[in-house]
Amino acid sequence: MLEDPLDGFGRPLRSLRISVTDRCNLRCRYCMPEENYHWLRRNLILSFEELTRTVRIFQSLGVDRVRITGGEPLLRKDLPVLIEQLSSLGLKEIGLTTNGVLLAPFKERLFAAGLTRVTVSLDALEPELFNKLSQRNDLERVLEGVRSVAHTPGLKLDTVMLKGVNDSQMVPLLDFARSVGAEVRFIEYMDVGGATKWSSADVLSEAEMLTSLKERFGEIVALPGRGSAPAARFQLATGQTFGIIASTTRPFCRSCDRVRVTADGQLLTCLYSRVGRDLRELLRKDLDDEEIRNILFQHWTQRVDRGAEERIAVAERGPLANPAELQENVHLEMHTRGG
Ligand code: SAM
Ligand code: SF4
Ligand code: SF4
Repeated sequence: MLEDPLDGFGRPLRSLRISVTDRCNLRCRYCMPEENYHWLRRNLILSFEELTRTVRIFQSLGVDRVRITGGEPLLRKDLPVLIEQLSSLGLKEIGLTTNGVLLAPFKERLFAAGLTRVTVSLDALEPELFNKLSQRNDLERVLEGVRSVAHTPGLKLDTVMLKGVNDSQMVPLLDFARSVGAEVRFIEYMDVGGATKWSSADVLSEAEMLTSLKERFGEIVALPGRGSAPAARFQLATGQTFGIIASTTRPFCRSCDRVRVTADGQLLTCLYSRVGRDLRELLRKDLDDEEIRNILFQHWTQRVDRGAEERIAVAERGPLANPAELQENVHLEMHTRGG
Protein backbone atom coordinates (compact mmCIF):
# COMPACT_ATOMS: atom_id res chain seq x y z
CA MET A 1 0.00 0.00 0.00
CA LEU A 2 1.32 3.42 -0.94
CA GLU A 3 1.26 6.09 1.72
CA ASP A 4 -1.30 8.94 1.36
CA PRO A 5 0.08 12.49 1.64
CA LEU A 6 -0.97 14.97 4.33
CA ASP A 7 -0.74 18.69 3.70
CA GLY A 8 0.90 21.35 5.90
CA PHE A 9 -2.10 21.30 8.26
CA GLY A 10 -2.35 17.52 8.37
CA ARG A 11 -5.27 17.37 5.93
CA PRO A 12 -5.53 14.30 3.67
CA LEU A 13 -6.51 14.42 -0.01
CA ARG A 14 -9.83 12.71 -0.58
CA SER A 15 -11.97 14.68 -2.99
CA LEU A 16 -11.40 15.90 -6.55
CA ARG A 17 -13.51 18.35 -8.56
CA ILE A 18 -12.92 18.21 -12.28
CA SER A 19 -14.19 20.94 -14.53
CA VAL A 20 -14.86 19.51 -17.98
CA THR A 21 -15.67 22.75 -19.80
CA ASP A 22 -15.58 26.49 -19.16
CA ARG A 23 -18.68 27.05 -21.34
CA CYS A 24 -22.14 27.57 -19.89
CA ASN A 25 -25.70 27.94 -21.16
CA LEU A 26 -26.73 30.24 -18.27
CA ARG A 27 -25.26 33.56 -17.21
CA CYS A 28 -25.79 33.64 -13.44
CA ARG A 29 -25.13 37.19 -12.32
CA TYR A 30 -22.84 36.16 -9.48
CA CYS A 31 -20.75 33.83 -11.67
CA MET A 32 -20.84 34.82 -15.36
CA PRO A 33 -22.31 38.31 -15.52
CA GLU A 34 -20.93 38.97 -19.03
CA GLU A 35 -22.23 37.50 -22.30
CA ASN A 36 -18.82 36.77 -23.78
CA TYR A 37 -15.56 35.53 -22.36
CA HIS A 38 -12.11 34.50 -23.51
CA TRP A 39 -12.78 30.77 -23.78
CA LEU A 40 -10.12 28.13 -23.21
CA ARG A 41 -8.54 26.94 -26.45
CA ARG A 42 -9.83 23.57 -27.59
CA ASN A 43 -6.40 21.92 -27.89
CA LEU A 44 -5.71 22.78 -24.25
CA ILE A 45 -8.82 21.02 -22.91
CA LEU A 46 -8.01 17.66 -21.31
CA SER A 47 -9.32 14.65 -23.22
CA PHE A 48 -11.39 11.96 -21.48
CA GLU A 49 -8.32 9.72 -21.46
CA GLU A 50 -6.25 12.45 -19.80
CA LEU A 51 -9.01 13.11 -17.27
CA THR A 52 -9.36 9.42 -16.44
CA ARG A 53 -5.60 9.11 -16.04
CA THR A 54 -5.64 12.16 -13.77
CA VAL A 55 -8.33 10.63 -11.59
CA ARG A 56 -6.47 7.33 -11.44
CA ILE A 57 -3.30 9.07 -10.26
CA PHE A 58 -5.23 11.07 -7.65
CA GLN A 59 -6.90 7.86 -6.53
CA SER A 60 -3.46 6.49 -5.72
CA LEU A 61 -2.99 9.55 -3.46
CA GLY A 62 -6.19 8.88 -1.50
CA VAL A 63 -8.99 10.42 -3.58
CA ASP A 64 -12.18 8.37 -3.48
CA ARG A 65 -14.80 11.00 -4.40
CA VAL A 66 -14.91 12.78 -7.76
CA ARG A 67 -17.29 15.54 -8.79
CA ILE A 68 -17.75 16.62 -12.38
CA THR A 69 -18.43 20.30 -12.83
CA GLY A 70 -17.79 23.24 -15.16
CA GLY A 71 -18.99 25.68 -16.65
CA GLU A 72 -21.95 23.53 -17.44
CA PRO A 73 -20.65 19.95 -17.56
CA LEU A 74 -23.53 18.68 -19.70
CA LEU A 75 -22.28 20.88 -22.54
CA ARG A 76 -19.19 18.65 -22.79
CA LYS A 77 -19.80 16.32 -25.71
CA ASP A 78 -20.32 12.65 -24.80
CA LEU A 79 -20.03 13.23 -21.03
CA PRO A 80 -21.51 9.75 -20.26
CA VAL A 81 -18.44 8.24 -21.97
CA LEU A 82 -16.18 9.97 -19.43
CA ILE A 83 -18.37 8.73 -16.59
CA GLU A 84 -18.14 5.20 -17.94
CA GLN A 85 -14.34 5.46 -17.98
CA LEU A 86 -14.28 6.84 -14.43
CA SER A 87 -16.66 4.22 -13.13
CA SER A 88 -14.19 1.49 -14.10
CA LEU A 89 -11.81 2.92 -11.44
CA GLY A 90 -13.94 1.76 -8.51
CA LEU A 91 -14.37 5.16 -6.79
CA LYS A 92 -16.74 5.57 -3.84
CA GLU A 93 -18.58 8.41 -5.51
CA ILE A 94 -18.91 10.04 -8.94
CA GLY A 95 -21.06 13.15 -8.59
CA LEU A 96 -22.22 15.77 -11.07
CA THR A 97 -22.96 19.43 -10.38
CA THR A 98 -25.20 20.89 -13.08
CA ASN A 99 -27.55 23.78 -13.69
CA GLY A 100 -30.09 21.17 -14.77
CA VAL A 101 -31.02 22.70 -18.15
CA LEU A 102 -29.90 19.61 -20.10
CA LEU A 103 -30.38 17.05 -17.34
CA ALA A 104 -33.66 15.41 -18.39
CA PRO A 105 -32.45 14.22 -21.82
CA PHE A 106 -29.14 12.95 -20.37
CA LYS A 107 -30.38 11.39 -17.14
CA GLU A 108 -30.72 7.79 -18.32
CA ARG A 109 -27.33 7.68 -19.99
CA LEU A 110 -25.56 9.34 -17.05
CA PHE A 111 -26.80 6.87 -14.47
CA ALA A 112 -26.33 3.91 -16.82
CA ALA A 113 -22.68 5.01 -17.22
CA GLY A 114 -22.12 4.89 -13.45
CA LEU A 115 -22.96 8.34 -12.08
CA THR A 116 -23.78 7.97 -8.38
CA ARG A 117 -25.33 11.34 -7.43
CA VAL A 118 -26.45 14.68 -8.80
CA THR A 119 -26.49 18.22 -7.42
CA VAL A 120 -28.62 20.74 -9.30
CA SER A 121 -28.00 24.44 -8.79
CA LEU A 122 -31.30 26.29 -8.51
CA ASP A 123 -31.58 29.80 -7.10
CA ALA A 124 -35.28 30.56 -7.57
CA LEU A 125 -38.60 28.91 -8.32
CA GLU A 126 -40.27 32.17 -9.18
CA PRO A 127 -39.85 32.53 -12.99
CA GLU A 128 -39.06 36.23 -13.14
CA LEU A 129 -36.48 35.92 -10.41
CA PHE A 130 -34.93 32.86 -12.04
CA ASN A 131 -34.67 34.74 -15.34
CA LYS A 132 -33.19 37.78 -13.66
CA LEU A 133 -30.57 35.76 -11.80
CA SER A 134 -29.59 33.43 -14.64
CA GLN A 135 -30.15 35.90 -17.51
CA ARG A 136 -31.91 33.09 -19.40
CA ASN A 137 -35.51 31.80 -19.47
CA ASP A 138 -34.91 28.12 -18.74
CA LEU A 139 -36.69 27.51 -15.44
CA GLU A 140 -39.11 24.95 -16.94
CA ARG A 141 -36.25 22.89 -18.38
CA VAL A 142 -34.39 23.00 -15.05
CA LEU A 143 -37.48 21.84 -13.15
CA GLU A 144 -38.00 19.06 -15.67
CA GLY A 145 -34.35 18.13 -15.14
CA VAL A 146 -34.76 17.99 -11.35
CA ARG A 147 -37.95 15.94 -11.65
CA SER A 148 -36.19 13.50 -13.96
CA VAL A 149 -33.76 12.67 -11.14
CA ALA A 150 -36.29 12.93 -8.29
CA HIS A 151 -35.62 10.58 -5.34
CA THR A 152 -32.23 9.41 -6.67
CA PRO A 153 -29.85 8.79 -3.73
CA GLY A 154 -27.87 11.85 -2.61
CA LEU A 155 -29.86 14.34 -4.73
CA LYS A 156 -29.14 17.94 -3.71
CA LEU A 157 -30.34 21.38 -4.73
CA ASP A 158 -27.72 24.12 -4.29
CA THR A 159 -28.97 27.68 -3.90
CA VAL A 160 -26.74 30.74 -3.71
CA MET A 161 -28.48 33.18 -1.38
CA LEU A 162 -28.30 36.86 -2.26
CA LYS A 163 -29.63 39.17 0.42
CA GLY A 164 -32.69 41.09 -0.69
CA VAL A 165 -32.81 39.14 -3.97
CA ASN A 166 -33.89 35.53 -3.45
CA ASP A 167 -34.51 35.36 0.34
CA SER A 168 -38.18 34.82 -0.52
CA GLN A 169 -37.28 31.51 -2.21
CA MET A 170 -35.99 29.64 0.86
CA VAL A 171 -39.32 28.20 1.95
CA PRO A 172 -40.60 27.40 -1.59
CA LEU A 173 -37.27 25.67 -2.30
CA LEU A 174 -37.55 23.60 0.88
CA ASP A 175 -41.08 22.56 -0.17
CA PHE A 176 -39.97 21.73 -3.70
CA ALA A 177 -36.97 19.78 -2.42
CA ARG A 178 -39.22 17.67 -0.20
CA SER A 179 -41.49 16.89 -3.16
CA VAL A 180 -38.56 15.57 -5.25
CA GLY A 181 -36.66 13.81 -2.45
CA ALA A 182 -33.76 16.27 -2.49
CA GLU A 183 -31.86 18.11 0.25
CA VAL A 184 -31.42 21.86 -0.25
CA ARG A 185 -28.10 23.48 0.58
CA PHE A 186 -28.18 27.23 0.94
CA ILE A 187 -24.82 28.70 -0.07
CA GLU A 188 -23.48 32.00 1.17
CA TYR A 189 -22.60 34.35 -1.68
CA MET A 190 -18.82 34.23 -2.22
CA ASP A 191 -16.43 36.88 -3.48
CA VAL A 192 -14.72 34.58 -6.02
CA GLY A 193 -14.58 34.61 -9.82
CA GLY A 194 -17.24 36.50 -11.72
CA ALA A 195 -18.74 37.90 -8.51
CA THR A 196 -17.28 41.26 -9.50
CA LYS A 197 -20.09 43.19 -7.84
CA TRP A 198 -19.73 41.24 -4.57
CA SER A 199 -20.26 43.22 -1.40
CA SER A 200 -20.57 41.92 2.15
CA ALA A 201 -23.91 43.74 2.30
CA ASP A 202 -25.29 41.25 -0.27
CA VAL A 203 -24.33 38.17 1.75
CA LEU A 204 -27.18 36.47 3.56
CA SER A 205 -25.24 34.84 6.36
CA GLU A 206 -25.80 31.41 7.86
CA ALA A 207 -26.92 33.11 11.09
CA GLU A 208 -29.49 35.22 9.20
CA MET A 209 -30.77 32.22 7.25
CA LEU A 210 -31.27 30.27 10.48
CA THR A 211 -33.04 33.18 12.16
CA SER A 212 -35.48 33.57 9.31
CA LEU A 213 -36.15 29.82 9.08
CA LYS A 214 -36.68 29.66 12.87
CA GLU A 215 -39.32 32.38 12.61
CA ARG A 216 -41.14 30.26 10.05
CA PHE A 217 -40.63 26.71 11.36
CA GLY A 218 -39.72 27.01 15.07
CA GLU A 219 -36.80 25.13 16.60
CA ILE A 220 -34.02 23.97 14.26
CA VAL A 221 -31.62 21.24 15.34
CA ALA A 222 -27.98 21.23 14.17
CA LEU A 223 -27.05 17.72 13.04
CA PRO A 224 -23.64 16.32 14.06
CA GLY A 225 -21.05 14.54 11.93
CA ARG A 226 -20.24 16.99 9.18
CA GLY A 227 -16.73 15.55 8.66
CA SER A 228 -15.03 17.14 5.68
CA ALA A 229 -18.32 18.06 3.93
CA PRO A 230 -18.71 21.77 3.19
CA ALA A 231 -22.31 21.93 4.40
CA ALA A 232 -23.43 22.08 8.01
CA ARG A 233 -26.70 20.13 8.23
CA PHE A 234 -29.85 21.04 10.12
CA GLN A 235 -33.27 19.54 10.79
CA LEU A 236 -36.64 21.24 11.00
CA ALA A 237 -39.30 20.10 13.46
CA THR A 238 -41.08 18.56 10.45
CA GLY A 239 -38.12 16.17 10.11
CA GLN A 240 -36.93 17.75 6.87
CA THR A 241 -33.16 18.26 6.68
CA PHE A 242 -31.22 20.96 4.84
CA GLY A 243 -27.66 22.25 4.64
CA ILE A 244 -25.90 25.59 4.79
CA ILE A 245 -22.53 26.17 3.12
CA ALA A 246 -21.20 29.13 5.08
CA SER A 247 -18.03 29.64 3.03
CA THR A 248 -18.09 33.39 3.60
CA THR A 249 -18.90 33.83 7.30
CA ARG A 250 -17.91 30.46 8.81
CA PRO A 251 -15.41 28.72 6.52
CA PHE A 252 -14.44 25.10 6.88
CA CYS A 253 -10.83 25.18 5.59
CA ARG A 254 -9.57 23.15 8.55
CA SER A 255 -11.19 20.00 7.20
CA CYS A 256 -10.78 20.74 3.48
CA ASP A 257 -9.62 17.62 1.64
CA ARG A 258 -10.36 18.87 -1.86
CA VAL A 259 -8.39 19.59 -4.99
CA ARG A 260 -9.65 21.09 -8.27
CA VAL A 261 -8.60 20.58 -11.86
CA THR A 262 -9.71 23.07 -14.51
CA ALA A 263 -10.80 21.91 -17.97
CA ASP A 264 -7.33 22.77 -19.32
CA GLY A 265 -5.52 20.93 -16.57
CA GLN A 266 -4.57 23.58 -14.02
CA LEU A 267 -4.41 22.08 -10.57
CA LEU A 268 -5.79 24.29 -7.78
CA THR A 269 -5.45 23.29 -4.15
CA CYS A 270 -7.87 26.02 -3.02
CA LEU A 271 -10.89 27.77 -4.51
CA TYR A 272 -9.06 31.02 -3.74
CA SER A 273 -5.70 30.00 -5.29
CA ARG A 274 -4.33 32.71 -7.57
CA VAL A 275 -1.99 30.35 -9.37
CA GLY A 276 -2.25 26.66 -10.15
CA ARG A 277 0.16 23.87 -11.02
CA ASP A 278 0.25 22.93 -14.69
CA LEU A 279 -0.95 19.33 -14.67
CA ARG A 280 -1.57 19.29 -18.43
CA GLU A 281 2.12 19.82 -19.02
CA LEU A 282 2.92 16.82 -16.80
CA LEU A 283 0.32 14.64 -18.55
CA ARG A 284 1.61 15.55 -21.99
CA LYS A 285 5.29 15.02 -21.10
CA ASP A 286 6.94 11.66 -21.25
CA LEU A 287 6.25 10.84 -17.58
CA ASP A 288 4.71 7.68 -16.20
CA ASP A 289 1.92 7.64 -13.60
CA GLU A 290 4.31 7.05 -10.73
CA GLU A 291 6.45 10.05 -11.64
CA ILE A 292 3.39 12.28 -11.79
CA ARG A 293 2.14 10.79 -8.52
CA ASN A 294 5.42 11.70 -6.82
CA ILE A 295 5.19 15.29 -8.05
CA LEU A 296 1.56 15.60 -6.86
CA PHE A 297 2.46 13.96 -3.55
CA GLN A 298 5.07 16.68 -2.94
CA HIS A 299 2.67 19.36 -4.10
CA TRP A 300 0.02 18.29 -1.59
CA THR A 301 2.48 18.04 1.31
CA GLN A 302 3.40 21.70 0.67
CA ARG A 303 -0.22 22.89 0.76
CA VAL A 304 -1.06 25.45 3.43
CA ASP A 305 -4.21 26.90 1.81
CA ARG A 306 -6.97 28.35 3.93
CA GLY A 307 -8.29 30.88 1.44
CA ALA A 308 -11.78 31.49 2.85
CA GLU A 309 -10.41 31.87 6.39
CA GLU A 310 -7.85 34.40 5.19
CA ARG A 311 -10.54 36.37 3.36
CA ILE A 312 -12.49 36.80 6.60
CA ALA A 313 -9.54 38.67 8.06
CA VAL A 314 -9.49 41.18 5.16
CA ALA A 315 -10.76 44.58 6.27
CA GLU A 316 -12.91 46.40 3.68
CA ARG A 317 -13.46 43.15 1.82
CA GLY A 318 -14.49 43.43 -1.83
CA PRO A 319 -14.44 41.05 -4.83
CA LEU A 320 -11.32 38.86 -5.02
CA ALA A 321 -10.68 39.89 -8.64
CA ASN A 322 -11.79 42.82 -10.77
CA PRO A 323 -13.01 42.46 -14.40
CA ALA A 324 -9.61 43.42 -15.86
CA GLU A 325 -7.82 40.75 -13.79
CA LEU A 326 -10.39 38.17 -14.85
CA GLN A 327 -9.87 39.01 -18.52
CA GLU A 328 -6.15 38.69 -18.03
CA ASN A 329 -6.35 35.40 -16.14
CA VAL A 330 -9.40 33.26 -16.99
CA HIS A 331 -8.33 30.72 -14.37
CA LEU A 332 -9.61 33.10 -11.72
CA GLU A 333 -13.17 32.63 -13.05
CA MET A 334 -15.56 30.42 -11.08
CA HIS A 335 -16.83 28.89 -14.33
CA THR A 336 -13.23 27.86 -15.11
CA ARG A 337 -12.37 26.50 -11.67
CA GLY A 338 -15.69 24.73 -11.20
CA GLY A 339 -17.20 26.26 -8.07
N1 SAM B 1 -22.83 25.09 -13.98
C1 SAM B 1 -22.93 24.15 -12.91
C2 SAM B 1 -23.86 24.64 -11.83
O1 SAM B 1 -24.17 25.82 -11.82
O2 SAM B 1 -24.23 23.81 -11.03
C3 SAM B 1 -21.59 23.78 -12.31
C4 SAM B 1 -20.55 24.87 -12.16
S1 SAM B 1 -20.96 26.18 -11.04
C5 SAM B 1 -19.52 27.21 -11.13
C6 SAM B 1 -20.80 25.35 -9.47
C7 SAM B 1 -21.43 26.04 -8.29
O3 SAM B 1 -20.75 27.24 -8.01
C8 SAM B 1 -22.90 26.40 -8.47
O4 SAM B 1 -23.69 25.79 -7.48
C9 SAM B 1 -22.90 27.89 -8.30
O5 SAM B 1 -24.08 28.35 -7.73
C10 SAM B 1 -21.68 28.12 -7.44
N2 SAM B 1 -21.22 29.51 -7.51
C11 SAM B 1 -20.79 30.20 -8.60
N3 SAM B 1 -20.46 31.45 -8.25
C12 SAM B 1 -20.67 31.57 -6.91
C13 SAM B 1 -20.52 32.63 -5.95
N4 SAM B 1 -20.07 33.83 -6.30
N5 SAM B 1 -20.83 32.37 -4.66
C14 SAM B 1 -21.27 31.15 -4.28
N6 SAM B 1 -21.43 30.12 -5.13
C15 SAM B 1 -21.14 30.33 -6.43
FE1 SF4 C 1 -23.14 28.62 -15.39
FE2 SF4 C 1 -23.07 27.32 -13.10
FE3 SF4 C 1 -21.87 29.69 -13.34
FE4 SF4 C 1 -24.51 29.60 -13.37
S1 SF4 C 1 -23.18 29.01 -11.67
S2 SF4 C 1 -23.22 30.74 -14.81
S3 SF4 C 1 -24.90 27.70 -14.36
S4 SF4 C 1 -21.29 27.85 -14.40
FE1 SF4 D 1 -10.70 24.51 0.99
FE2 SF4 D 1 -9.70 26.76 0.04
FE3 SF4 D 1 -12.35 26.42 0.25
FE4 SF4 D 1 -10.83 26.74 2.46
S1 SF4 D 1 -11.19 28.23 0.83
S2 SF4 D 1 -12.47 25.23 2.15
S3 SF4 D 1 -8.96 25.64 1.82
S4 SF4 D 1 -10.97 25.29 -1.09
